[in-house]
Amino acid sequence: MQDFKSLGLTEPLVRAVAEAGYDSPTPIQAQAIPVMLQGGDVMGLAQTGTGKTAAFVLPLIDRLVAEGKQAPGRTCRALVLAPTRELAAQIGASIATYAKHSRITHAVIFGGVKPGPQIRALAKGVDILVATPGRLLDHMGEGKARLDMTRHVVLDEADQMLDLGFIPAIRKLLAAVATPRQTVMFSATMPKQIRSLANDFLKDPKTISVTPPSKPVERIDQKVLFVAQPDKPNALIDLMAPEAGKRALVFTRTKHRADRVAKKLVSYGHKANAIHGNKSQNQRERALNAFKSGEAPVLVATDIAARGIDVDGVELVVNFELPNVSESYVHRIGRTARAGASGRAIALCAPDEISLLRDIEKLMGLSATPLNDVPPVPEGDAAKPKPQRRGRRKPHRGQGGGKAGGARNAGGQPGGNKTPRRRRPKRASAQGGTGNA
Ligand code: AMP
Repeated sequence: MQDFKSLGLTEPLVRAVAEAGYDSPTPIQAQAIPVMLQGGDVMGLAQTGTGKTAAFVLPLIDRLVAEGKQAPGRTCRALVLAPTRELAAQIGASIATYAKHSRITHAVIFGGVKPGPQIRALAKGVDILVATPGRLLDHMGEGKARLDMTRHVVLDEADQMLDLGFIPAIRKLLAAVATPRQTVMFSATMPKQIRSLANDFLKDPKTISVTPPSKPVERIDQKVLFVAQPDKPNALIDLMAPEAGKRALVFTRTKHRADRVAKKLVSYGHKANAIHGNKSQNQRERALNAFKSGEAPVLVATDIAARGIDVDGVELVVNFELPNVSESYVHRIGRTARAGASGRAIALCAPDEISLLRDIEKLMGLSATPLNDVPPVPEGDAAKPKPQRRGRRKPHRGQGGGKAGGARNAGGQPGGNKTPRRRRPKRASAQGGTGNA
């Protein structure tokens, strides 16, 4: 069996991964590490959960140590760009773990917090800088950061960068990086714009694909429950009843609904928090820590906030609403079944989301198992795919308080249990669903 040493990594790194509890490299690590150690460019098609962070961080540390240089003030020797602050922080934590026995410095910078400490962290220069594109451009504009000494660049979750509109910022940043350099890009999917970014900035990259683009992790047991939109809150309470205490992620389409769903779960005794873009950095960190520690094992999230949630042991992903973009579904369910574990995903699908469900199934090349019958198509044109909606929708009347309807004829719980009755506890848990998320 292949081990980390045989990939060419030096002893301090082999020791650090052993201490992290990894026995053998994952497929993306086995393929990317030797290429990166040779200084080659890599285009990695891999979802989160495949071990892609270690696949680029380990060889990066090894090369920086071997080069043995020092970063002048306000510069970095290697730059890792990430789409969200959560992912940036997560990568920073991974660097700290893997560089435990190496003399490598790093800093993490992202928006939404005061720039002062970041500027100070960069002032002396760092070996590895992890950054979100917008904040890094701000620092560069102020003359507090430079990329002319940077010889290694990693673009992580490039397709998310595209979704968030970061491609122009990334092009600006890459244009400011020194040449020759090593450029490495990871993306779960390969839309046209990502391919053209790779063509423009990568040099003879080795393409490594560990799961075909957009294929879900096959270990995930996927189910779908057909339920009218106003009945979803109660359906969620029903399906979450037997899951009490388990680590579960619930996705909603809007921030407002994330708050409402978290509140509802809390009122039924679940320890739940909401995480989304309107929460402060502190609130997001608190919610994430409570999720990780198990103090509040249910996290209700919007897509953007969920980027970078790198938590093992997520047993269940619930899609309270189906995402407008099919690829997001694959990302969402990829939060379970990480690092070799198996996982479960349940989608609540309203009649007007059936066309979204079919799109997702087409993309995945497989269907989720229905827990109940597909509702009959109403008269008129309701069966026609609706134009994709973006942004906030007016909440349905009676949602959260109305009578349960569609959920009652749910064919059963995942695992074949009968749907348990909802019992609302007399007093809500002290865990704040909205206030402290
Ligand atoms: P990533 O895809 O980088 O987000 O990593 C997913 C998870 O896999 C993280 O929690 C890592 O700690 C874990 N991991 C990474 N490499 C390995 C490995 N070789 N063996 C076991 N777990 C790993």
